[in-house]
Amino acid sequence: MSGNPAVVMRLVASAYSVAEKAGAIVRKVLHSGDLGIVEKTGANDLQTLADRLAQKSICASLSRRFPKITIIGEEDLPIEEVREDLIENGQAEDILQRSCPEQYRALKEEELVVWVDPLDGTKEYTEASRCLHLQAVAQKPHKGLDKTHGTALWLLDNVTVLIGIAYGGRAIAGVINQPFYNYQLGAEADLGRTMWGMLGLGAFGFQLQEVPADKRIVTTTRSHSNKTVTDCVNAMEPHEVIRVGGAGNKIIQLIEGKASAYVFASPGCKKWDTCAPEAILHAVGGNNRKLTDMCGNAYCYNADVKHMNSAGVLATLRNHDYYVSRVPQSVLQALKSD
Ligand code: AMP
Ligand code: MG
Ligand code: MG
Repeated sequence: MSGNPAVVMRLVASAYSVAEKAGAIVRKVLHSGDLGIVEKTGANDLQTLADRLAQKSICASLSRRFPKITIIGEEDLPIEEVREDLIENGQAEDILQRSCPEQYRALKEEELVVWVDPLDGTKEYTEASRCLHLQAVAQKPHKGLDKTHGTALWLLDNVTVLIGIAYGGRAIAGVINQPFYNYQLGAEADLGRTMWGMLGLGAFGFQLQEVPADKRIVTTTRSHSNKTVTDCVNAMEPHEVIRVGGAGNKIIQLIEGKASAYVFASPGCKKWDTCAPEAILHAVGGNNRKLTDMCGNAYCYNADVKHMNSAGVLATLRNHDYYVSRVPQSVLQALKSD
């Protein structure tokens, strides 16, 4: 380990291990079959036992080690003692070894804000679970998460755990755990992967790939669509549209060359959905990586900002200006009147 790692490096190293623990919790609850689903604002805004336990685990683990950091989690949970088995004390050693970018060396705990989405893509998580459950009821022989036995199992890859770190209102580092990565190999396989990134350091845990510049593949919501959302997607004149769940998952699609733009012209996405993804998108390096609202304005991640990304989400690796220029006036009007 390098002498005395900067606070922010220790925080990212902890967030990495904590996200892995949360991913394991998300898998365990799925396999238990008892999701404990609660509707928050409606049928498309759900919370499960996995969301609750993962958030408890992440927030309690990080706040024990970094008591002065502001941590904002998606779920509204009663303040209570957190079970010891939910606490993760690990820190990713290879992150601790890295040298902190100069501009972040002197950061103090109290200057950092952590945005936590313990389970992004909850709707898709519940649908995949139902699919697994139906298989079990039908007593179809299946090997855990075998792809051949269910059409909805691909939704498992929509699920991520997001931990974003902000300083001075900017997303500066982020960790994304994808708990069911490699689900095709079956439940006994070593599932899951973790990606992370930090401005000035780079992004790790995946292979950067980009869709060719002349191809417009738009990724958008699967379960929170409406006319404004589809009008806006169509206005981009896409060659292809992909509808999947999760903000984290859609950013993974961008950086792995599956999509050229994430377009969501609607309120609904919150700061905990975009902080970690935005940090990783910027950390991959290059000039034009952007996550903004539909007008092209950046979001701010200070502790006191409004949680809702009311003016939508537009994220790209390049050609951001093109997508901003295609947003119809009617869509801008609809977002403004929110
Ligand atoms: P989606 O692309 O629909 O999976 O949305 C990305 C993230 O934003 C997820 O965490 C969703 O829960 C959240 N989100 C988007 N729209 C809404 C909405 N209308 N109500 C609640 N959450 C939403
Ligand atoms: Mg989310
Ligand atoms: Mg969530």
